[in-house]
Amino acid sequence: MTDHQRRQLADYGRRLLADRLTTGTGGNLSIALRSEDMIAITPSGISYDEIKPEDISLLDFSGRHLEGCPPSSEWHLHLALYRSRPEINAVVHTHSRFATTFALLHEPLPACHYLIGVARAKEIRVAPYATFGTKKLARKTVAALGNHDRCILMANHGLLAVGEELMEAYNTALYIEEVAELYYRARCLGTPVLLSEAEMDEALIRFRSYGQKATMMAS
Ligand SMILES: [Zn+2]
Repeated sequence: MTDHQRRQLADYGRRLLADRLTTGTGGNLSIALRSEDMIAITPSGISYDEIKPEDISLLDFSGRHLEGCPPSSEWHLHLALYRSRPEINAVVHTHSRFATTFALLHEPLPACHYLIGVARAKEIRVAPYATFGTKKLARKTVAALGNHDRCILMANHGLLAVGEELMEAYNTALYIEEVAELYYRARCLGTPVLLSEAEMDEALIRFRSYGQKATMMAS
């Protein structure tokens, strides 16, 4: 684990506040360093604008605390995601307002905008509720996310995005929150027109062909 990687997590934590994806200590971020059998995760109970690189918590893949402050209460969830999805190396979890609004309704975000495709899916589904910080929540969320999707709503809780690297997972969370806000606004004014299966298939081909850069080229 390098200083650069710890600083990157602390910096993205501050971005969560600046981009209004969270307030105070809500949500959490992590990266996996598979070659070192280690994950780095934001600490528990420290406001994002106060997290220093040395506060970042390091755990091994069995969940043993190695260094830094005590980990976010959702460390079971982060570890379970890395164990079940070998291609992902970053997890972003937020309680962002518009996505969480739909999570309270247990209502998936449909294909109302092509940017839903950043999640490599045609809709953002809702994982069942379980108490925060539990292995049960980790198990249910991992099962609901499946083997391909990059983003899911967590019932009565928030949003979860995964990616091959932190910037990708973060941008996915940011774009899906933006789509949730647009969909909410459109629903206030009328009935949004959804994209067809074929239109989403075409968008998904483009997102997949751009690989990791997909969340950067979405414009
Ligand atoms: Zn949470």
